[in-house]
Amino acid sequence: MDKCPYCNTSFNEIRQTGFVGCSKCYREIEELRKAVKSMYSNKVHRGKRAKNGSL
Ligand SMILES: [Zn+2]
Repeated sequence: MDKCPYCNTSFNEIRQTGFVGCSKCYREIEELRKAVKSMYSNKVHRGKRAKNGSL
């Protein structure tokens, strides 16, 4: 699904505005879920790298 059935916000709209329509958007919009997932995994990677670099 590329649109949230709860608030009717599409992934394109969220990408343009940077805001989700509601908390369900993360679950309902597949593209958004993927984008968030990759964002989080990037953060985890960076966190690990920083830790290793400081040691
Ligand atoms: Zn929504």
